[in-house]
Amino acid sequence: MSERYKTSFRGYLIDHHSPDPPIVTLTKLNIEAYERFYVEANINHLMVYCKDHWGNTYYDSKVGRRHPGLKEDWVARLKPILTKHRIEFNAYYSIEYDNEACTTHPEWRTLKADGTPLTCALETAPWKVACYETNYRGYLLEQLEEIVEGYQPDSLFLDIFGKSLCYCKVCRENFERDYGFPLPETEKGLVEHNNEVVESLNNSAKKMLEEILNLVKGIDPDIKVTFNFAALYNKDIRDQLDYQFTEPWAGNWLSAAYSRDTAVGQHPQLGPGDVSEVYNYQPESIYELAAAQIVAQGCRVFMFSGSQHPDGTLEHEEARRIGKAYQEVEKYESYLTNRQLIADIGIIQSDASAGILGEGSVPASAIARVRASNGHKEALLGAMKMCDYVNYTWQIVPEQTLDLKVMSHYKLLIVPELYCISALLAEALRKYVSQGGTVIIDGKSGLYNNAGQKLKHYVLEDLVGCRYINENTFYDKSDWGSYLDLVEEKLWHCIPDTFPPVGPTRQLVEQQQGKVLARFMNPATELTSKKWVNWWCPPPSIKTDEPAIIENEIGKGKVLFCAFDFFKLENKGFKLAKEMFKGMVGHFITTPSIKLLTPYPNSISFVAYERQADKQLILHVVSNIPEKTQGDCPIISPGVLEISKLKWQIMDASCAYPLEETLAIEDHQDSVTIQLPDIRIHQVIIINFDGRE
Ligand SMILES: [Zn+2]
Repeated sequence: MSERYKTSFRGYLIDHHSPDPPIVTLTKLNIEAYERFYVEANINHLMVYCKDHWGNTYYDSKVGRRHPGLKEDWVARLKPILTKHRIEFNAYYSIEYDNEACTTHPEWRTLKADGTPLTCALETAPWKVACYETNYRGYLLEQLEEIVEGYQPDSLFLDIFGKSLCYCKVCRENFERDYGFPLPETEKGLVEHNNEVVESLNNSAKKMLEEILNLVKGIDPDIKVTFNFAALYNKDIRDQLDYQFTEPWAGNWLSAAYSRDTAVGQHPQLGPGDVSEVYNYQPESIYELAAAQIVAQGCRVFMFSGSQHPDGTLEHEEARRIGKAYQEVEKYESYLTNRQLIADIGIIQSDASAGILGEGSVPASAIARVRASNGHKEALLGAMKMCDYVNYTWQIVPEQTLDLKVMSHYKLLIVPELYCISALLAEALRKYVSQGGTVIIDGKSGLYNNAGQKLKHYVLEDLVGCRYINENTFYDKSDWGSYLDLVEEKLWHCIPDTFPPVGPTRQLVEQQQGKVLARFMNPATELTSKKWVNWWCPPPSIKTDEPAIIENEIGKGKVLFCAFDFFKLENKGFKLAKEMFKGMVGHFITTPSIKLLTPYPNSISFVAYERQADKQLILHVVSNIPEKTQGDCPIISPGVLEISKLKWQIMDASCAYPLEETLAIEDHQDSVTIQLPDIRIHQVIIINFDGRE
């Protein structure tokens, strides 16, 4: 049984989707050179092309076509090398992109509404998209059978999975059979029937996945299966996978955290495509930092690049660079397993809220669809950035895993524009608050059902302390549609004496309980080409009585409600939003488990784990400066850790990586503080404790 996927932290793919000779000849393929490359790159996971986007196989396929430049079964040549060096053999198979199959079988192509074939939208990569509702399904299943039976890979990676919107005869018939009306063709029809169209595509993908899993696990019950962008799919489909692979969508640090938290127990792997770039090399520090960010956030690192030349020789410079970064990972690898994340703040993630109120019609491409953002996803991203900025411990919590017991582990829960809030979740939140929990809720949370229809009132009206009246869109042409008139409160101590701007729209609410902490201020005028002709948005001018932020006390707990898109502000250049968040968190979390006091909150990040078996806290501190400066890594003092004495009885602290050294502990009333040593890119801090609460 292969359990390699649990600990293969150093992954790589020689990414070589290759046309036929004479462009890519592969005349100088040499197995010894490949072996040297793998050893130099210091990898323990290799993704191997079995079939690429061109539809060429790299093994002897009876049903497909081997790359014509190959003189032998290349996968068969590689396999013993991987076994020899204990490298996980991960078989790559391209599902929707297959130029060969689409050329030899035009009837297998995914069609647009006008009957012309769909290709990948990228101008330089117009891959032909096959539809697996046609007989292409049998073709791909036969190839997967050949691969799994013939080569026994440890794991299988399905690229370009999902189901693209297709108007072929079969897809049209299937839709009409299931929904009783024709598959919508116009922008208007697609927007109107967004739910049905997306559901039908998701169901098609789910069935395809089930069939693939049945087939490959029927041959090898131990094979581990994933597909690309797994973290961005809904939980019901994610849960069918053995492990999760995702390419970063919000930088390495935040994307890895998101993957870790949406793939608990699923050994997530994060693969940035912008780190290693053959011929156009990034500084070595960028490789080192990317690897550190990914493993620190609990994922396995994976890199990929076009390191194979057209004649089949390799770019050894790339192996050297990857090898250097992976040598660093190897030094702290023993700290990466058997540990549980520490998080005072939970950010609630909702598949239902992510699936409604998107912009425009259903994107045709499955990959574009899964990557498309919406209000909830944007708010969630903003909340992650803010939590990272304030340097408290935090994590994403999928709503399906949340009940009162899970909630009770958090000192603060964030409800970031959670459009639809189920009765179950609402009830659990009420109990959590009444028992002393604190919640920050923003935007239009709880104002929609899961079909995207607007409700009359907030589902959590009793918690947010106000009644929804309507949305104020009067100033929505202006990026700064409102300003905040902050009521003097301790929690705004980080904000200068001004009126911070907020986004274009806001909600008009009627206060019922609680205390108003900020009111909206109107701009001098709405933005029109006659009333306001200027370089900037109309400035604040008129105070209103409209509540913008309300703090409500219920039982032993507290709720802070923002009647505007608070968490999204961070993504849109509203610079004071994170300072406001800092005030809120400081106000609500009086005794954080662990917090980092750093003079460089935009550059220094940390994450903390507990290894209970060893009575150890394992902390990663990362300097993100190289990615902000194209590779410069000045050595700086990252700050001071503050650890709660109420939670752990701390014995000693040390730096385990890069240099081993004992760290002094300073004792305070409720906490201990530890001055961190100077940092270049990454350090691992070990703190031993005797007892815990
Ligand atoms: Zn089709």
